[in-house]
Amino acid sequence: MDIKEIYMDADALLEGHFKLSSGNHSQYYLQSAKVLEDPKTVKLLADELAKQIRASGLKIDTVCAPALGGLIAGFALAQALDCRSIFAERVNGEMSIRRGFEIKEGERVLMCEDIITTGGSAMEAARVVKSLGGVIVGVAALANRGFCKRENSNLVTKANCKLPQDIPFFALEDFTFEIHSPDTCPLCKDGSEAIKPGSRGN
Ligand code: ZN
Repeated sequence: MDIKEIYMDADALLEGHFKLSSGNHSQYYLQSAKVLEDPKTVKLLADELAKQIRASGLKIDTVCAPALGGLIAGFALAQALDCRSIFAERVNGEMSIRRGFEIKEGERVLMCEDIITTGGSAMEAARVVKSLGGVIVGVAALANRGFCKRENSNLVTKANCKLPQDIPFFALEDFTFEIHSPDTCPLCKDGSEAIKPGSRGN
């Protein structure tokens, strides 16, 4: 399955000359929610990710996704793995588990995101799951920004990766883009102008 092509077709992976919120420039931009617009695509991706996870032999009771980004991927993955689906959400800046979701002592929880950059939000939510007695058995995401090493990839974990190294990280594809400072951006040098992706302010 060509994951990059699926993202391209869904306009979730844009190619051009983009100005990122950090001020840096990039030739690519990942608008990861766009790939989740079509429920058929979500099912396709979640089934593929579930296949990988099942092949690893990992036992999972529950998938937990940090809201908002992880919600759709988390639910779809839980459906594909035939297990429970819960989510964590931020309340006054603090990640928490509410809405009556309970976690049993020793419950085996897989954290799930639509995309993992450094894994910060996933790990924040994981700490809450652990504080309630859950055991974090792995992390899953549809896409990986390339800072954390996933199963079946040769990419090396970078210093800013926040995922623990002693549990598996499953993702369908690495999306590693070069980021340029505006002063040294080769696309600027070629004379094009960087645009803000999602010009409607998203
Ligand atoms: Zn540029």
